[in-house]
Amino acid sequence: MSIKCYLLSPRGFCSGVHRVVNMTEQVLKLYNTVYITEDIIHNKMFMSDATRKGVIKVSSIDDVPDGAAFMFSAHGASPKAIAKAEEKELIVIDGTCPIVKSIQNEVKAEAESGKKIIIIGNRSHAEIVALIGYTDCENVFVVYDEADIDLLPDFTDDEVVYFTQTTLDCSCVDVMIKKLKEKIPHLESNSQNNICSATKERQEVVRRVASLTDLVIVVGSSHSSNAKRLCEIALSAGAKNAVLIDSQNDLDEVVLDGVKTMALTSSASTPENVVQDLTEHLKSKFGIIVEDFEIPKTDG
Ligand code: SF4
Repeated sequence: MSIKCYLLSPRGFCSGVHRVVNMTEQVLKLYNTVYITEDIIHNKMFMSDATRKGVIKVSSIDDVPDGAAFMFSAHGASPKAIAKAEEKELIVIDGTCPIVKSIQNEVKAEAESGKKIIIIGNRSHAEIVALIGYTDCENVFVVYDEADIDLLPDFTDDEVVYFTQTTLDCSCVDVMIKKLKEKIPHLESNSQNNICSATKERQEVVRRVASLTDLVIVVGSSHSSNAKRLCEIALSAGAKNAVLIDSQNDLDEVVLDGVKTMALTSSASTPENVVQDLTEHLKSKFGIIVEDFEIPKTDG
């Protein structure tokens, strides 16, 4: 019997990634070479292609030749990094997603007004590293799980406001916010969370289909926060198995034995041609029947 595969939508590039990918193409046309210190987006396939085309990754802005073209990633840059690039008189291309930029501005304003800042997110993720730079770095507290909340100091006499990383799992964040509010009843927020609509939609379609499947394949890279979340959500929403692969080259690692129904999606940083190549491969090599499964899209 043939395997049925739901090809989920929305999937793939969000508006912020579309924007920075287009900027990369334009800047390479103009300057042939552009330097970066952080991956432009968290996708190995895109980055290896970009490297072939002239994107050069260095470990520090100090290593960029004076006056060269230099690009900040979609995850944003700290004011310190921006100042350093200006000091070196680099041609700066700011690829920061406008959604991330607006969160940075809010964090900056709240920090300047003297509030303590709690960020729900991964301290080592590029978005959070940059975001911390918009505070004085002393009155900001990053929490990633419930255990981190237990370790927070007493905020009784402080005004405290929280923000969240844009690519977390909405339901996990809800649990974290509930626990934070139990510990800090006067906790403020500018919105329920800062998880962007593109992230929410890609999660929601996986949530809806997962329990119908024996397997969910997420096409994306292992260092992509939103890709990892999609896999976790597939499993927690009832998929029997979920795997994260970069491309069809990793398909050998995927066990299709016993699979009757599967779903295929991709992270917000995965180029669509990688998904299309994989879909064609699934059809031609395994005779898999591919069917679209779509929910309404609000992200550009
Ligand atoms: S996932 Fe959301 S916040 Fe992140 S780059 Fe895409 S649109 Fe911007």
